[in-house]
Amino acid sequence: MNKFWSEIANSIEPYTAGEQPKDKKYIKLNTNENPYSPSVKVLDAIRNAANESLKLYPDPTCNDLKTAIAEYYRLDNEQIFIGNGSDEILAFSFMAFFNPKEKVLFPDITYSFYPVFSDLFNIDYKCVPLDDEFNVQTKLLNEENGGIIISNPNAPTGISLPVSSIEEILKNNTDSVVIIDEAYIDFGGESAYKLINKYENLLVVQTFSKSRSLAGLRVGFAMGNSNLINALVKIKNSFNSYTTGKLALIGAIEAIKDNDYFEMTTKKIIKTREIVVKKLKEMGFWVLDSKANFIFISHPKVNAEKLFIELRSRGILVRYFSKKRIDNFIRISMGEIEDMERFIYEINDII
Ligand code: PMP
Repeated sequence: MNKFWSEIANSIEPYTAGEQPKDKKYIKLNTNENPYSPSVKVLDAIRNAANESLKLYPDPTCNDLKTAIAEYYRLDNEQIFIGNGSDEILAFSFMAFFNPKEKVLFPDITYSFYPVFSDLFNIDYKCVPLDDEFNVQTKLLNEENGGIIISNPNAPTGISLPVSSIEEILKNNTDSVVIIDEAYIDFGGESAYKLINKYENLLVVQTFSKSRSLAGLRVGFAMGNSNLINALVKIKNSFNSYTTGKLALIGAIEAIKDNDYFEMTTKKIIKTREIVVKKLKEMGFWVLDSKANFIFISHPKVNAEKLFIELRSRGILVRYFSKKRIDNFIRISMGEIEDMERFIYEINDII
């Protein structure tokens, strides 16, 4: 116990992000970043906005970005919330919609920030097991709960859930908020945003970090019924009115507008994923069916932690989780095709 720390600072087990090493140049396939640069239009807009106006606070309502997103998804501004990365929105959501002692449900294998947020805000949770193929068992989400959160596609498996299953979950849980974390949705999944006019308990959270190549800018957004959005605004304004900076807002607006670049880069990543999956399957890997910008793989003969260590020593960083059920898998983010060719060469050499 540190006597100067609060109880929560003493007890909380924080989320561990993938490493960002500086010791040498690695092929970085460990944090699901986009290998492609942000759109030139985004970079130009940020450069042009780096001027005297930075002496003023940004628009706390983020209205222009909300308008750009609302136009893109054909929604109203009141149905959109902007945050400093989607992690922040998820944190606000735990505060806005969940209560201590009312168990929040999420899969046993999923984004490891969910239990951290639960602990931070003292919210009870229950991990609902995925089936043997790592699919969500929607029937297990019918028990009494204080909320549900699902990553779709799931992390770290990449497996996606059809919108029909999400609708079933919403119908069976009308008294609690269901959050769908769509950080990776643009790489082949089907977004649940279409359901927000139909279900008042649905919140869909997305990010600019992955499909729009802006992990460094820190912008995320949520879409939902204006009643839910108002709760998020209330929490945000009790925490920090200006979570999203001026340059971040400007960059994100341009990213939404440059749809051609977005389409081109996401298509390239999907194509790369298909090529890599095919090669790994030929090598005997079990490759989960990914609709994300990463894949989750296991080999029947070579231990995953060994693979992780050996790849690292050859200058390739992937992600390994020493967690029950997935401790014989590694997660590989899709890089540029040349880097993936090198990865394929090295992993083939190792096995
Ligand atoms: N959700 C999931 C499932 C993620 O993997 C990540 C990235 N680590 C996030 C949300 C958060 O992304 P960001 O805060 O960069 O928007």
